[in-house]
Amino acid sequence: MRRTKIIATLGPATSSPAALEQLIALGVNVFRFNMSHAPHDWVRKVTKSIREISSALHHEVALLLDTQGPAIRTGDVAKPYDLQIGDIVSFTVQGQKGTEGISVDVNYPYLVEDIHVGSVVIVDNGNLRMEALEKRENELICKVLTPGPMGSRRHINLPGVDVRLPALTEKDYRDIELAFECEMDFIAMSFVRRAADIELLRGIIKAKNSRIRIVAKIEDQMAVRNLEEIIEACDGLMVARGDLGIEVPYEELPIIQRRAVNLCLAAVKPVIVATHLLESMISNPSPTRAEITDIANAVFEHADAIMLSGETTTGKYPMECVEIMDRIARRIEQGKTVATYVNPIPPKSPHQRMNAATVYLANESQSAGICVFTHSGKTARFIAGLRPQTAPIFAFTPNLDVCRNLSLHFGVKAHVIEFHNDPNEILVRMQARLLSHGYAKPGDSIVVVSDLEVGKETLHAIHVHTLK
Ligand code: PEP
Repeated sequence: MRRTKIIATLGPATSSPAALEQLIALGVNVFRFNMSHAPHDWVRKVTKSIREISSALHHEVALLLDTQGPAIRTGDVAKPYDLQIGDIVSFTVQGQKGTEGISVDVNYPYLVEDIHVGSVVIVDNGNLRMEALEKRENELICKVLTPGPMGSRRHINLPGVDVRLPALTEKDYRDIELAFECEMDFIAMSFVRRAADIELLRGIIKAKNSRIRIVAKIEDQMAVRNLEEIIEACDGLMVARGDLGIEVPYEELPIIQRRAVNLCLAAVKPVIVATHLLESMISNPSPTRAEITDIANAVFEHADAIMLSGETTTGKYPMECVEIMDRIARRIEQGKTVATYVNPIPPKSPHQRMNAATVYLANESQSAGICVFTHSGKTARFIAGLRPQTAPIFAFTPNLDVCRNLSLHFGVKAHVIEFHNDPNEILVRMQARLLSHGYAKPGDSIVVVSDLEVGKETLHAIHVHTLK
């Protein structure tokens, strides 16, 4: 069983029922909907399809809605401009009419105020670079430094600027409603800059009485400065290297990735390494050596999940990308560096000490697995966060949403089973599931963690069980 999870972003290359079935069979654990591009009706149709397929295959996966967030974007242009070096471009705000031949409006009213003349404006994820030449009334005049096409709704990055946009836009609010409607498992919040941004979304989720979990995407310098408080506030973190690699000097990116992953491990929160892991495979059938090493590096760092974006939305080889990630992750997980990891953070509460003892027991006895009975998923998430060295974590829960959202977490394979008042009966059901799926064989020893109801008391219990 691969323990590092794979997230695939869906798009035209992968949204047919046949493609979804193939992706699930290849081992995708989480499907991502990128709301910068996904229309609502398409999301409704594809999520329904995924739920039907995974239910027929008895293989649950998680769904993640990724908001567009407060991104600065150009408006619509009648047809893409083919920009050449030295061309003059006018970016306008507040409904101003451009005074140059090439002109496009921008959704950020402070654009002219926030950019210094002489600085570089980065458009379309770094594909276009321009120099800010002059400020006019509600208009920024730029000179093209690198040529290329500029179409509609292109993203503008302003590295180092504390962008004055609300944490959630009108579009985000509508998209979040869609996440509730489609019973998604995660909302990935784009351009999170501080813990308060997450609290805003948390309030919306609470008001809906939903258990949807929040993944904070770190994408700019402010998020990096506030990393600790963001990790404390979120349910999971995404190192969104696409924007981050533009917003910070690129040599800082690997350092930030490593720090973010380590801080998440210490805080026992899941962490996703995202973007460009197999970028060349959007058009090529095999990965570059650097990409192989990048995936391996994320596994060496003990990330919970690695993510595919363009590779699976519009790429030519989406299935091959999943197969390649799967192969690399499995191989690296077998190595000593991954298999001997010990979380250096001492547990804080009695419950955490019990979970740490579970992991210790599993590591020392080389058990075939850790079985966790869980209503909310909390115990399984914590044990996953401690990264058992080799034992897979089998989580058993009566709740389908808990089963699905555990798909993101390192080493967890979750199952829905009905709980029973008699602990022996639950054990029998769990054992039947492990043996029938071939996860373990008679004679294997497993560590079992359960909450036993004894009278009015709940006993958190660990025991070692030999499968019969
Ligand atoms: C990223 O920037 O790496 C990312 C995942 O965000 P998006 O694809 O939404 O730009």
